[in-house]
Amino acid sequence: MTSSCVLVLNCGSSSLKFAVIDTQSGNTSLSGLAEKLGEQDPQISWKVQQDKQKKQLPAHAAHHEALEALVNIIKQMGFDTSLIAVGHRVVHGGENFTQSVIINEQVKETIRKKSQLAPLHNPANLLGIDAAEAAFPELPQVAVFDTAFHQSLPQKAFLYALPYSLYQNHGVRKYGFHGTSHYFVANEAAKALGKPVEQCNLITAHLGNGCSIAAIKNGESVDTSMGLTPLEGLVMGTRSGDIDPGIFNFLNEQLGYAPEEINAILNKSSGLKGISEISNDCRNLEEAAEQVNERAQLALEIFAYRIAKYIASYTVPLGRLDAIIFTGGIGENSSYIRELVIRQLAIFQLELDEERNLAARFGQSGNILKDSAIQALVIPTNEEWVIANDAAMLTSSQEEQ
Ligand code: ADP
Repeated sequence: MTSSCVLVLNCGSSSLKFAVIDTQSGNTSLSGLAEKLGEQDPQISWKVQQDKQKKQLPAHAAHHEALEALVNIIKQMGFDTSLIAVGHRVVHGGENFTQSVIINEQVKETIRKKSQLAPLHNPANLLGIDAAEAAFPELPQVAVFDTAFHQSLPQKAFLYALPYSLYQNHGVRKYGFHGTSHYFVANEAAKALGKPVEQCNLITAHLGNGCSIAAIKNGESVDTSMGLTPLEGLVMGTRSGDIDPGIFNFLNEQLGYAPEEINAILNKSSGLKGISEISNDCRNLEEAAEQVNERAQLALEIFAYRIAKYIASYTVPLGRLDAIIFTGGIGENSSYIRELVIRQLAIFQLELDEERNLAARFGQSGNILKDSAIQALVIPTNEEWVIANDAAMLTSSQEEQ
């Protein structure tokens, strides 16, 4: 049987992350990144099995030029004949998309309109879609939205206590992000727990550079920490997460910061980086904390405290909890952060198993607690696989029609 593959694209404003995923085995045949697009020295790097390669792109090369280079790589490797679809990660689908869709002109127009909610991300995603349509005119293009999984949130969870007209007229509400990751690890957790996801109550913590947490009841997202934008909720690498909204006015009126400066502070120089004044990278902070750097210790403590508080609060919509899931670069690898979190959840009779906590790193899954009613599972995420799978399913159901 010939294999069928999906090209998965994740476009940022100056980058293009890609992977070719075999839809039967789930294996990644090719993966890589084009970066510094539009800048002086853009480049594309890629990996096939253990073989890594890198190539300079022409100065100021844009997304479509990166895609042309990628098409050549794909053809050289002979993957082009097995491609059945291109799957695009699209950040904001607003209230219009509750699941993945085949892209047509109307879908593109809606994504364009949602750029108001995600001005950095959606326009970049559209660049990727246009470039992929030009490069692979014969392939169906599928959009997979970061927001879609959280469209099941009830009003009481997604509405801010602001004038209702701001929601009605301008869509100001909580949307949530990292949906594909929360969806993937929830389904993997269900397998580990040995019951259908529709019977699982879970709290999933995606802890990477961006961090978010979700309450999942009977397989559906019922609350999540990111909001209208990815700034709300947990402390992140460089984002503040929850703060008193009055701080905005204070910085503006009392300290003279312009709105765009405040936006940059909250998004780019806060979080782990802002508190520690060392780094946004958890690994660097753990090293510094070990050398008894107090500010690194404090940053990690605040980071873990916020996670523990969110976990405790998400037991409210769930009622019964089967498992807490840790994923993302920090969730999958940092036994230090997981320990700090679990120790603050003693009220739920959770007891850390130190050996299991150390074992569940670098791609290894597992329960990190001593046997108890609630499990704490480490599960490596795989957003590319969700995108490839959705694209393959939509493509085959389109063929059947
Ligand atoms: P992104 O959100 O960009 O996809 P990742 O999910 O790769 O990011 O997560 C990046 C974070 O994971 C960084 O803070 C990094 O320090 C952290 N991380 C990766 N490996 C480890 C490790 N072994 N120990 C602690 N933190 C780690």
